[in-house]
Amino acid sequence: QAKADGRGTYRVFEVQMDERARARLSLEQELREALTNDRFEVFYQPLVDLGSNAVIGLEALVRWRHAERGLTSPAVFIPIAEETGLIVPLGEWVLRRACRDAARWPSHIRVAVNVSPHQLRQRNFTAMVLSALSESSLDPRRLELEITESVLLEETDANLKTLHALRGFGVRIAMDDFGTGYSSISYLRRFPFDKIKIDRSFVREIGEKPEASAIIRAIIGLGRSLNMTTLVEGIETEVQRSAVQAEGAHEMQGFLFNSPRPAREIDALLRIARPEDEAA
Ligand code: C2E
Ligand code: MG
Ligand code: MG
Ligand code: MG
Repeated sequence: QAKADGRGTYRVFEVQMDERARARLSLEQELREALTNDRFEVFYQPLVDLGSNAVIGLEALVRWRHAERGLTSPAVFIPIAEETGLIVPLGEWVLRRACRDAARWPSHIRVAVNVSPHQLRQRNFTAMVLSALSESSLDPRRLELEITESVLLEETDANLKTLHALRGFGVRIAMDDFGTGYSSISYLRRFPFDKIKIDRSFVREIGEKPEASAIIRAIIGLGRSLNMTTLVEGIETEVQRSAVQAEGAHEMQGFLFNSPRPAREIDALLRIARPEDEAA
């Protein structure tokens, strides 16, 4: 009947919009509450050296322990956190937590933390990172910040200055999801990344399409010739692992080795006794 009546159609549409807006608003509200109520948790996924198979670092990946929905993926809430600016306090919380966790790990192990464009744009971003490092007594050289190229698309000069400043303190800068944007390659000219993380979309077709291997080979070669560490994301099979190793990549990350795990399990993986475990 909505079709027969123009105004009816409009009202149906209006109600749907209203529901979407309400759902968004309530998610935003829930995110705020989750922040104050400490409902977030940082998981870690190993970054593995392809030559020795040793864990050389861990990437911090935030999770939301939601009362009804359970463990919730960042894919669900990071976009809304970015839009609303909540990513600024959330990102700071993740960074401080990650630095404190990493300070317990053996000193050759790094921690990688994702940084959103919104965070980097904050005037006090460098100062905040330095405070997280000093508060946890973590050597700046053990911190790696992962940025995606969307960071470099905007306010380029200010952002580049911040990245250079951080690098001057010894913090490493990695380009995340390399190859997914429009101008990934041109950014390699603009900023001396320490590492490029080749997006997992390139890995999926290894062994199926010859072009997949050709492209990944070219990216690894490019990174190596620019003196950047190359890491390949999303390694799920032994075939993919040996292929990217043969192409000369330095590091890998993926379900083949380990999926993201709670800090407690990482401590066990690294064989560290946690204070509360000793007490128990
Ligand atoms: P990312 O930084 O590219 O992180 C890697 C993602 O790939 C993680 O998803 C990880 O679980 C997933 N992954 C790792 N190995 C494999 C694999 O072998 N196969 C497949 N299919 N996936 C794999 P996750 O944890 O869901 O995070 C998704 C994205 O959310 C991250 O992508 C990052 O962009 C964002 N994110 C997570 N935590 C934070 C954070 O603290 N701050 C910010 N700004 N973004 C975050
Ligand atoms: Mg990342
Ligand atoms: Mg990535
Ligand atoms: Mg990715």
